Amino acid sequence: MLRTRDIAGGIGRRARRARWSVVESIGRVERRVGAGEVALTFDDGPHPDSTPRVLDRLGELGVVATFFCVGRNATAHPEIVRRALAEGHAVGSHSGTHPDPAELGIGPLAGEYRDGRAAVTAVVGREVPLFRPPHGHLTPRSAAMVRRQSLRPWLWTVDPTDWRPGVTAAEVAAVATSAVSGDVVLMHDWVEQPWAPEALDRSATIEALPAVVRSARDRGLVFTTLPAR
Ligand SMILES: [Zn+2]
Repeated sequence: MLRTRDIAGGIGRRARRARWSVVESIGRVERRVGAGEVALTFDDGPHPDSTPRVLDRLGELGVVATFFCVGRNATAHPEIVRRALAEGHAVGSHSGTHPDPAELGIGPLAGEYRDGRAAVTAVVGREVPLFRPPHGHLTPRSAAMVRRQSLRPWLWTVDPTDWRPGVTAAEVAAVATSAVSGDVVLMHDWVEQPWAPEALDRSATIEALPAVVRSARDRGLVFTTLPAR
């Protein structure tokens, strides 16, 4: 029996899906890489405690990833951004100071995204169009603004919620090892928001990486950086 609530829920889902496909086409949002590929992405850094440990581990495993840097963190630690690039990783921007986009008007949000890109561009020495909005938040208006700025927004398809305070390596690995061909995995080399002291320990994410890489390789997947297409 179909109840009124189910019908309303179905309409709500359809409306949300329709609205989201508009956002995706306005913003040219990407979320999948090519067949046979998988992409690891790290948000919110760089931070001198955790990002070098992530880079060390990726280097040991021989995989490349993409780092979405907060502008002020890139400005504070440019040497870590340059190290990531020198080791074959890709770099994108992730706003200037990582505000909650849902709480900002379109003008200040445009400034945040412009500042974030400018900061990362200044560190890298060439234009950096790769971009991820904080919280993956996009509306028709902000997607249009992102497009006007010629940013190339990337979201994700696999989210191990590794920012959660107290999350374990096993919990991160359980979700991240589910990545299949074309998946983009969201992880964090630092946590800007929601902020909690326990979330700043990135050990679980780092300890999960060998299992994640082994699982993907066992299934013939190749790790890739995100293209700015
Ligand atoms: Zn973030």
